[in-house]
This record gives sequence, C-alpha cells and structure tokens, in this order.
Amino acid sequence: MPPLDRRFALKAAAALAATATTAGVAAATCAVQTAASQAAMTPAAALQRLQDGNARFVAGQPEHCDLLEQVRQTAGGQAPFAAVLGCIDSRAPPELLFDQRIGDIFTARIAGNLVDDDMLGSLEFATHVAGARLIVVLGHSECGAIKGAIDGVKLGHLTGLLAKIRPALGALKYQGVASSRNAELVQRVAERNVQDGVARLARAPVLAKLVQAERLKIVGAMHDLGTGRLTWTT
Ligand SMILES: [Zn+2]
Repeated sequence: MPPLDRRFALKAAAALAATATTAGVAAATCAVQTAASQAAMTPAAALQRLQDGNARFVAGQPEHCDLLEQVRQTAGGQAPFAAVLGCIDSRAPPELLFDQRIGDIFTARIAGNLVDDDMLGSLEFATHVAGARLIVVLGHSECGAIKGAIDGVKLGHLTGLLAKIRPALGALKYQGVASSRNAELVQRVAERNVQDGVARLARAPVLAKLVQAERLKIVGAMHDLGTGRLTWTT
C-alpha cells in the first residue's frame, strides 16, 4: 500500500474504532432503567452515574437518545436509580444538568429546594417504594428563594415557605445586617440549606433504615449557575 493510502487507512480505522466506542457508551447511557438494572446498582454507582452525566453536560457532550423509544420502553413501569430534590429555578433542571432521560431519575422541585413534610413523603416513595438508590439535595448559586428568605420577603403563601428556609440563616455567623446584596452570605445560606435538607432526610426513620441497610445514600450538591458545574457538599 502506498504511504498516503496507508495513512488514510489507519486514520479511517481509528475513526471507526472511536465511533464504535462512542456508540457503545451511548447505547449504555440510553438503555432505560429496569428492575434488574436498579437492583444491581449500588448507591455509590448511582452517584457515579450522576457525576458522569454532569461531566458530559459541562463538556457540551450530552448523549442524544431516542426519547420516544424510551417512552415506549418505560410505559409498563419505572425503576429510576436516583431522586433529586432541586429548586424550581428555570436554570437548574436536574435531568439536563445530570444528562439523564425518561425513567432515569425522580425529580422533586420546590423553591429553595426545601425539605418539607410533603417532599420527604415524595422521597420516601421514590426510595422505599420505588427503589431509587440515591437522593441528591441540589442547591444552586444566586437562588432567589434564598435571597427572599434572607430579606424576609412577605407575599401570599411564599411567606410561609421562605420562613422554613430562615433557620439556615439563623445557624450562621455573619457580620452586620443580613441582606441578599451580600453575595457571600447568599451562597453560605444556600449551602447550609442543602446541609439542613440532607440532615432532615437522614433523620427520617424510613430513609435512615434504607441508609443503614446500604440500600440508599443521601448527598448534597451545589450547582453553579454560571458554569453548570456541581460541587458535592456532603
Ligand atoms: Zn433557587
């Protein structure tokens, strides 16, 4: 084979191999969760799967799966491997941040990613009943609910919701008057609110039993709105 042809042939073979590897990863990522895949997954593996998904997201390389095919394959039942409790912020959708799709994760969303009784009940369903192996309490930077809680905003039913976030502020030491203009304080309260959420979940008897049996892990994470990256806090 002339040198040029040989070089071309080598390049083509390398490209083919790369495509095959990418296709292999996509096939694994696009496979829907089943009772068998869920049963085989450890809490640590569930966490790794979300971390890998966020790495694909921030690298701008999400998997493009056939969502309608996933709809068909999950129509008979679901077996999500994780549950995420996040904020309603339009810039923080868990499925996109973790590069997950139909049937992969439960998502519960409420302003300020607050753990209240009903959210706790939803997560007890997601884990004890439906078998998810991991709960992520996902806070984020520049959170409007956290800012509102710091400023003591009063508005309809929002007043009561924000009051439930206030203890996170009360638990911190800071100088001067609390204000949402203090960016560092906003971030610290958001982080503390995630910690408090994780602690509340860990105390719930139904979840604590699963954690003890190593069938569940509860972790916290902060999402940076400016980069899409996550910092795992617990
Ligand atoms: Zn928020």
